[in-house]
Amino acid sequence: MKQERRKSSNVLLDTALQEFYGAADEMRLNEKLISILSHSERRVQVSIPVEMDDGSVNVFEGYRVQHSTALGPSKGGVRYDPEVDMDECEALAILMTWKCSLAGIPYGGGKGGIACDPMNMSKKEKEKLSRTYGARISPILGKWSDIPAPDMNTSSQEMVWIVDTISKMRGDLEPALLTGKPVTFWGSYGRHEATGRGVATCGLELMKVLGKSPDKITAIVQGFGNVGSYTAKTLTEAGVKVVAISDISGSYYSANGIDIRKAFEVVHANPKRLLTGFEKVGNCEKIDEDMFVDADFLFPCARDGMINRKTADKVKARYIVEGANGPVTPEGDEILASKGVTIVPDFLANSGGVIGSYFEWAQNLQGAFWTEEEYNNKLVHIMKGNFRRVWDYAEAKKIKMRRAASMAAIQRVADVIELRGTFL
Ligand code: GLU
Repeated sequence: MKQERRKSSNVLLDTALQEFYGAADEMRLNEKLISILSHSERRVQVSIPVEMDDGSVNVFEGYRVQHSTALGPSKGGVRYDPEVDMDECEALAILMTWKCSLAGIPYGGGKGGIACDPMNMSKKEKEKLSRTYGARISPILGKWSDIPAPDMNTSSQEMVWIVDTISKMRGDLEPALLTGKPVTFWGSYGRHEATGRGVATCGLELMKVLGKSPDKITAIVQGFGNVGSYTAKTLTEAGVKVVAISDISGSYYSANGIDIRKAFEVVHANPKRLLTGFEKVGNCEKIDEDMFVDADFLFPCARDGMINRKTADKVKARYIVEGANGPVTPEGDEILASKGVTIVPDFLANSGGVIGSYFEWAQNLQGAFWTEEEYNNKLVHIMKGNFRRVWDYAEAKKIKMRRAASMAAIQRVADVIELRGTFL
């Protein structure tokens, strides 16, 4: 019997589901596999009471979704954001399944989050939040079952709090339980920069197949968090002129190219890690919206849904490389397609983060340490190969890169489910 297809009122989840169904139909995936892969194996919600600095108690909601463990332990970040909920985590967990599959690493897909406003919480409050979240989801985490990592508004510090809590609860040090740890505590050289380095690598590979030299290219990098900042840095080092950057403090423009080193200095000196005041020291001007600047490439590295029904038409860039997860909505995608814009999809473009996580985990399991050079060389080599495979497949089939990437990723998971069977 054909099972009814899922729909969701959550835009991100609905987008993930419809892209899956579209790709699955195009590759004629059988209905049994469509039913299995359109559902998640586990969706867990926890309440997290935190005694705030003023003595009051706030109860936050935390989530962890494991979409698929067909290929291996579920893998994916934990985000702190006021908007996060179970559906958003599920959408992002689905995306992680495809990301890991496409990347060729032995992981399934997962994602977690806590609905909170980290910008307005003290370090002590965030520590309590992270530790209690870790303790409450501990039963479903493990180096061979589910491995978290940083995501939006979380960093190596949150990872240390969680791994320290769970290690002490279990009476055993568990470094491979999560990735994105600091280099001083079982982390890996290169992991911090890995996502941005991978995003930029995809952009540079796209320039290569188009026959364009990086020093003739202008780019906009939207978002200057972990992903955007290292995307901008890597692009600049390759000769690309980054003419606009932004974060929640505003957008900054310079026709001569943004001074990325200065931007890093400003962010590091700012307690909230923002570009506030950059126009005063960065030899650039503050503008309304960097997304609409006239440039060849746009790297949306901020958050989901930025390029949508209302904004897509105003984008002038001809090439988009998705650094954030889900930055282009389906309506945005359609408008861009009608304008002939090429998009490198998120689960290919930003897979450097999770590929880097895999390197960290593999080192932890062996108690080994790689050099930064070894790490970066392997990362760039894998990213280039993956980009090329998707590009060639899309060209051969005359389909969009997103669809080509989805089909390749789904096929690998489907093959393994057929091999392993559907028990549990
Ligand atoms: N949060 C990152 C992502 O969305 C990294 C996930 C990981 O390393 O597990 O890909």
